[in-house]
Amino acid sequence: MLIAGNWKMYKWPSETAAFCRGLVAPEGVDIVVCPPFTSIDEAVPTGLTVYAQNVHWDAEGAFTGEISAEMLLDAGARGTLVGHSERRQHFCETDETAWRRAEHALEVGLGVIFCVGESEEEREAGETEAVLRRQLELVRAHENLVLAYEPVWAIGTGKTATPQIAEEAHALIKELVGVPVLYGGSVKPENAEDLLSQPSVDGALVGGASLELDSFNAICETAARIRS
Ligand code: PEP
Repeated sequence: MLIAGNWKMYKWPSETAAFCRGLVAPEGVDIVVCPPFTSIDEAVPTGLTVYAQNVHWDAEGAFTGEISAEMLLDAGARGTLVGHSERRQHFCETDETAWRRAEHALEVGLGVIFCVGESEEEREAGETEAVLRRQLELVRAHENLVLAYEPVWAIGTGKTATPQIAEEAHALIKELVGVPVLYGGSVKPENAEDLLSQPSVDGALVGGASLELDSFNAICETAARIRS
């Protein structure tokens, strides 16, 4: 089972190494941390698996503010998030640009956690399945690709999908692409067991609760208990 922590724009280089050393991976659980770019350098030497939060589709070029997959590999990162809803919402990420980023990262040997999920309005309008199908239209299975189902209405809001909602979406996503699927959206130690015990849930992408050692370690322990 994979438990990934998305630190977003939190955790400074000066606090990163000590935090990483405080994470304990129980047997059967793979931990990934996704620090801001400036903290990758501090996280890599701790031996944890480090992913970035975004990546460009070219190796280098005139793309101010972007980082390439090749640069991430050189910095010791093993993979990257792509298509997080905050990138789609605030930085004009589209299904096309997200897949371009992911495709190149996979080609050069990075792992990718590719995020999809519907908004609250889309869910209320009964469009969840259509949205997921559209977001996954270009996506092709790859041995280093993992998907994350992150309903936008559950990210950072404290609202969590019910285990049934998560299971239904995960089953569809797996049918469409056939790779492991993580659940993301206000995962906390209190709800981790119900979500992670669903048959089509292969792990979690954790935002807020990955910023505290106690809560992130507790989620990892729950994951280990479920799989043992
Ligand atoms: C995320 O950022 O991917 C996320 C799921 O955040 P949170 O756990 O805080 O909802």
